[in-house]
Amino acid sequence: MLELRPNCELCDCNLPADSDQARICSYECTFCASCVDDVLHNVCPNYGGGFVSRPIRPKTARKDGVSRAHQKPSDQRKVAKLTRQQMIAFAAAHKAVPPAQR
Ligand SMILES: [Zn+2]
Ligand SMILES: [Zn+2]
Repeated sequence: MLELRPNCELCDCNLPADSDQARICSYECTFCASCVDDVLHNVCPNYGGGFVSRPIRPKTARKDGVSRAHQKPSDQRKVAKLTRQQMIAFAAAHKAVPPAQR
């Protein structure tokens, strides 16, 4: 099950579970759309893959036992181990290669 993380690893803005601004990589690294588009250029600074829009888990149980109330979003804020400059340098080195070819 996907961990719905509460913040952007880079700028630390809030990304609540119903946000349409959350982006995730295949390892669940979570960033906001503006950091992904303007700073990271669709390169995960931790693993090198691309990002997609984070799906929104339903608020209301449309099936028994399945909703944000049942499988709760994480409340553990995540802070990257890399510096902003390290992220920018990594993204710059790999952004020219499309995710499918990285
Ligand atoms: Zn951000
Ligand atoms: Zn990642």
